[in-house]
Amino acid sequence: MPELPEVETIRRDLEGKIVRKKIASVDVRAKKIVKTNLKEFLGVLKGNQFSKIDRRGKLLIFRLKRDDKFLLVHLKMTGQFIYRYDHKTTSGEHSRTIAGGHNLPKNIGELPNKFTHLIFSFADKSKLFYNDMRKFGFMKIVDEEEKEKVLSDSYGIDAMDEKFTLAVFKKILEKKKGAIVKAVLLDQVSVAGIGNIYADEILYDSRIMPNRKIVTLKSDEIKKLYQSIKKVLKHAIRHKGTTFGTQLEGHYVDSEGRKGNYLDFLKVYQREGEKCIGCPSGVIQKKNVAGRGTRFCTACQK
Ligand SMILES: [Zn+2]
Repeated sequence: MPELPEVETIRRDLEGKIVRKKIASVDVRAKKIVKTNLKEFLGVLKGNQFSKIDRRGKLLIFRLKRDDKFLLVHLKMTGQFIYRYDHKTTSGEHSRTIAGGHNLPKNIGELPNKFTHLIFSFADKSKLFYNDMRKFGFMKIVDEEEKEKVLSDSYGIDAMDEKFTLAVFKKILEKKKGAIVKAVLLDQVSVAGIGNIYADEILYDSRIMPNRKIVTLKSDEIKKLYQSIKKVLKHAIRHKGTTFGTQLEGHYVDSEGRKGNYLDFLKVYQREGEKCIGCPSGVIQKKNVAGRGTRFCTACQK
């Protein structure tokens, strides 16, 4: 599942490409994705423009210029956005693609394909495809009031929000004393944006065992945990998140010719059985914690 750094990367990439472009048409191929009455959904989007793209945790919030509405998009397990446009160079016309979200298959070239459930066509002929293998993702049109309700019901403060300070984090933990630290990191209502990969990386960075109860954390450990959240996520955003597999072969090129390469910096995720790179004797273990496969080093995490 794409986490905060991957969703932030998509947000930044798309904001530079689709904002202020007229939406010429919207082709909904799988109604299941759309959680708003289809007629209303199409009526609000057609002829409209995205004026800004925000994000809270893993939720994308597209502000619409007309009607004071918002399009909420959650990619869930396997959602992807693929933006494609043609551009001319001295050697002819080329198709360029930027994409983000779930791991991309090798043959992303054929679009739309059987996993394409929604297509935005813009007036300048560029297209934004929404692909989702498992169809858990959703799109919804809301007004300001509904948006605020969705956010307050299901999303805590964003982990990269400037207002998410150590003092705020301590207050959040006050209410979670009996909970396991990994579960709190994964709980989107406490702090929004952290999923399984970054939770493990953050806990490793802060030298805290994932199954510790909040009540057992000392003040300096809470501070370290807070710093690790900011440090790990910031670093991952700088590297455009983590992408797995060989999806960058062939004609796939992102807008800047860069790829999500935080994969090279992962210290525990998918490294079970390997020697710990942070201490001389540790081996990365994998165990179920808070219902998720969790990687850690018993030698350097306490
Ligand atoms: Zn270690």
